[in-house]
Amino acid sequence: MTRTWFSFTIGLVLCVAALAHSADDGPGALRFIDTAFEHASPLWWEQDDDGLVRIHLMYDQERSSPNRANGHWLFRIEAEPGARLTLDMGPFANIWNHRLSGPIPEAKVAFVSDDGRSWRPVPTEPAEPHRLRFAVRMQGDSLYVARLEPYGLADLQRLKARIADHPLVRITAIGWTVQRRELEMIRVGRPDAPHRVLIRARAHPWEPGGNWVIEGLLDRLFSEESSAARYLDRYAVDIMPMANKDGVARGMTRFNLRGKDLNRNWDQPADGELAPENAALEKWLQTAIAAGHRPDLMLDFHNDAYGRLHISRPELDPDALAAYLARMEHLERVLRAHTWFTEGSTRSTFRNPGSIGEGLLARYGIAAVVHELNANWIAGLDDYPKAEHWKLYGHQFAAALYHYFDKD
Ligand SMILES: [Zn+2]
Repeated sequence: MTRTWFSFTIGLVLCVAALAHSADDGPGALRFIDTAFEHASPLWWEQDDDGLVRIHLMYDQERSSPNRANGHWLFRIEAEPGARLTLDMGPFANIWNHRLSGPIPEAKVAFVSDDGRSWRPVPTEPAEPHRLRFAVRMQGDSLYVARLEPYGLADLQRLKARIADHPLVRITAIGWTVQRRELEMIRVGRPDAPHRVLIRARAHPWEPGGNWVIEGLLDRLFSEESSAARYLDRYAVDIMPMANKDGVARGMTRFNLRGKDLNRNWDQPADGELAPENAALEKWLQTAIAAGHRPDLMLDFHNDAYGRLHISRPELDPDALAAYLARMEHLERVLRAHTWFTEGSTRSTFRNPGSIGEGLLARYGIAAVVHELNANWIAGLDDYPKAEHWKLYGHQFAAALYHYFDKD
């Protein structure tokens, strides 16, 4: 008797629980968040009683430092078609140069896509503490959500396959990441070109802008337009397209798998154990210089909330520093004249020791600079930072480089 009553009670409780669950589980219910694919971000999630979807991103952290970073997100929501979901995402209490950064100064926009290929911007709002919020609407039963239009290892593979047979392209393996992913240098142009430009992208995995710029630059250099031949008469480019491949594959934000920032420690020889990605580039560079092929200009593409040229000022011989600053002024001029660039440069007191711009200038005498791309807004186009705009920048950048090497 007691047992029957007990069973009945349990049955009733389960039944009520099931009813309550199905009431919560109506249109708008979230079924799952999928992160089991390349470049997706590590996270865990939960849904509040009021339907708010809380997404908790995992920091990546720097070795021997309090620095930690969250800034990348990429995942796929499965939910009822037509549902409107509010996502509350964090934490963004990042620590940057040993100081707690403000509440997510970077993220004013996110991107969503029904198919993972065609993306549309969604504005975000700050939420407390150190979180942000934005609403998405399910058109089908699946929706990709990303910080910026993603560019992963598969995209790089497609680019390489597209250009590999071109007579002016040479793709060379230059080393390995921590997880033994092969690093490459893509050379475009003639070996005897009078000028050489070295480009690196993706030292920081959350920052895909540089990869989209490279896509546009290569499209322009391989186009049928007669100016493309003129450009390649004047310069060749060597491109390290994805320095932090491990971080990109694993959906990380800033550091490599051994906790190193690949845009630091360039004031000294690279550590092959902790930062093999930098050691590979350094070795390539030293070999190029020994062969008489020192780059005339080096650009390291990044994303941030400002989009400026980071012109760092190491303690150099005053004449050498003045010559460098004059080249950077010239670079800014040609970018403003030939591209949508309007963001300008860091102020005259700016210095970021160990960044690649400063390191390659101080150690190898190369006019090198970190080129940020604004991840929130493109002022020169009055629009969100879409991949198509960064590809356009790459097109225009091909012309800007041509004029950078004008004899004036
Ligand atoms: Zn960066």
